[in-house]
Amino acid sequence: DTVAMADLVPTVVNTLEMLKKKALEKEISLDYTVPEETAPVFAVLHQIKQVVFNLVDNAIKYTPAGGQVHVSLKQDPNWLVLTVADTGIGIPAEHREKVFERFYRVDKARSREAGGTGLGLSIVYEIVQRHGGQIFVEDNDDGIGSRFVVKLPLIPEAEAAQSVNKN
Ligand code: ATP
Ligand code: MG
Repeated sequence: DTVAMADLVPTVVNTLEMLKKKALEKEISLDYTVPEETAPVFAVLHQIKQVVFNLVDNAIKYTPAGGQVHVSLKQDPNWLVLTVADTGIGIPAEHREKVFERFYRVDKARSREAGGTGLGLSIVYEIVQRHGGQIFVEDNDDGIGSRFVVKLPLIPEAEAAQSVNKN
């Protein structure tokens, strides 16, 4: 696994374009608000791809037809912030921490129907930890559906300049 100092915009956009078809098949609109470019983070790009894929895959899976999934990427002074919001079934407050555990599923019967193993979010959690980031889930706006928020640390300017000099 190669850690690269990278702008994540192309990776995020490619992954979303890949998932458009899956969303369309379920009559869910998948759109995104992403800047032209962002400051770099230290990242393993295929792992970041996995994070976006697993979160959006869930958003599509747990949102009924006619719903919406919106992804955004933003930069604040210290973090790169990725959000995946859906208008789906939501996650009751008492389950919000546990969904990141391996094999944990909120509604066992319904999840079995939906397919999968209950590992997607535990993998996401692990990757985010390895990148020095944070992840949590909250209610989407108006309390309909959920919003997953991933924060990845931006590289402090001095450190970024140093790594550029080394290469
Ligand atoms: P897998 O990802 O392995 O195919 P999975 O989707 O069930 O299976 P996770 O991605 O780890 O497993 O998610 C764990 C559980 O969290 C899900 O079973 C579901 O109950 C809940 N969950 C995850 N994402 C959402 C979401 N966007 N909306 C509602 N519930 C969700
Ligand atoms: Mg999943």
